[in-house]
Amino acid sequence: MKELKGQADIPLDDKKFRFDAKVTEPCPSCKQEITRDFEDNYLSYPDKNTPINIGLWCQECDKEFELEIKITSIEVSIQYDASKMKEL
Ligand SMILES: [Zn+2]
Repeated sequence: MKELKGQADIPLDDKKFRFDAKVTEPCPSCKQEITRDFEDNYLSYPDKNTPINIGLWCQECDKEFELEIKITSIEVSIQYDASKMKEL
């Protein structure tokens, strides 16, 4: 099995762009950790290297915060078995 890695280009024509990462930061008000999970809370049509404001909610003090993030790269990995190559 071979594996290759590359960088995907965006803008992504994806209304519900999910990925397996989380932002976890202390609440600016009460210091309790608050998390934004990008698997549950997707980004809509994100652009590369463009500021995106995401919302974070603190359960402890019931306050909402905004944080600016930027997507700098999207890594894509593929796998294949070269012995299964077929003639067309
Ligand atoms: Zn808080």
